[in-house]
Amino acid sequence: MCDHDSNVDLAEYIHCSLSRRDLLKTGAAAVAGAGAALFAQTAAAQTRQGPIALFWGQNAGSAELAAQVEAERQTTSRTAGMKFRALVRYENSLTTETLTLKPVHPLQVVIRTQASQTCYSSVGQLNTTTRQANAVVTGHGGVGIVEDVGTAVKRVTVGDQVILATTPNCGVCGQCLNGRGDICMMRLPALVSATMADNTPVFMTGPPMGPAGYSEILVADEDWVVPVFTRVPPVELSILACVGGTGLGLTMCRFPIEAGTDVAIFGLGPIGISAVQGARIQGAKTIIGIDPIRYRRELALELGATHMLDPNALTGDALINRIRELTPDAVPTGRRYLGERPAGPMYVLEAAGGTRYALAPGVEAPADSSGIEALQQAYAAVRNGGYVRTCSIGHGQGAMVSFPAGQWSNGARTHVPGNYAGVQAMRDLPKFVRLIERGQFDARSMVGRVLRPDQMREAVEVAGERSAITSVIDFT
Ligand SMILES: [Zn+2]
Ligand SMILES: [Zn+2]
Repeated sequence: MCDHDSNVDLAEYIHCSLSRRDLLKTGAAAVAGAGAALFAQTAAAQTRQGPIALFWGQNAGSAELAAQVEAERQTTSRTAGMKFRALVRYENSLTTETLTLKPVHPLQVVIRTQASQTCYSSVGQLNTTTRQANAVVTGHGGVGIVEDVGTAVKRVTVGDQVILATTPNCGVCGQCLNGRGDICMMRLPALVSATMADNTPVFMTGPPMGPAGYSEILVADEDWVVPVFTRVPPVELSILACVGGTGLGLTMCRFPIEAGTDVAIFGLGPIGISAVQGARIQGAKTIIGIDPIRYRRELALELGATHMLDPNALTGDALINRIRELTPDAVPTGRRYLGERPAGPMYVLEAAGGTRYALAPGVEAPADSSGIEALQQAYAAVRNGGYVRTCSIGHGQGAMVSFPAGQWSNGARTHVPGNYAGVQAMRDLPKFVRLIERGQFDARSMVGRVLRPDQMREAVEVAGERSAITSVIDFT
């Protein structure tokens, strides 16, 4: 029978069909620290002895919990010992390594990767001047076929096609039950997934990145994977794992864009242009795209934007004034009391971020590489009563943003920050796949370059130098 008050034996837990809340209760999975995506290293990690378990957020450093979860790992699995290639960030290097897979944990899924998307989240790993103590597989999600499942996995079976999403969505934690699967609490600590030739342990899904991506084989807790049943090519599906899903989430999840409203989108990378498409699908009247990079503005126009603005040509108040001109109030001159609608877009979406890597020749640089100015302009542009949705706040530079005194005093604007833009992966990703099937979301145009598995590092560089809208590794 199940013991709810002391340590839960995993085999017993599986048999008694209790939810993973029992594990959470005993602390084995009490690892969720929303937003604190920093490596937390145990003492074991410092010395590189024995199993190293890393935890999210504030529960970092519990060697007992690490050991407990590690001890639950199956002694064998059909994929244990499998060799595969992955892009690994370790110490002062970022190199493709041949790894050996460890036996799975009962709650894990092993995926043979079909395609992996690229996003700016990985770009920091190009900076190898900072020593990284733990070896991690880079990338940020992807799509593939389930190769192996742990004995407790229920969501998928061998042979299923799955999207490995940016955030888990367990469906039973307090956040998921509250409709906030985007900040799902249920995460295993990051277990060692594989080893390098010299036995250096390598982590995959876990901090600081979330899911890994650039690897022929991916390992993740089942809460991170979403089964999909579709003929959409894997290269296109893969972008839903992060950038495409985030852009659609900005327009469809938590505070969906209402038909007939006006939208301004700062930043037209793969997230921003996915948001342009989402705004079009939602029926927005005016969709204003703002980005210094010409080819991105042109692509956004093809995919649904109604107006384009270059922030290098329209600086400061001129940019805000132009946005207001494009979204004027509706009162005819000389008339009063007509249900006045204030000027300015109802929704302002920020997907600009910072510029932290040298741009390719010919790619226009923003005036402010920190991305902070775009955030401030987003707040200035939104109309009274409108919504500002951000991707950066709470992640790096967003925490440093300050706003002019009094900027918030005028009216009732709502700021909506969000992890994965509010996407609840199990609920929303299958819906987004249908949008691709229907031709409503053009995923193919979002894939700027398709690269081979031996070009994984180059894929990150493409994102960093912004030489293409995005890049995808095709493993098939
Ligand atoms: Zn959850
Ligand atoms: Zn990402």
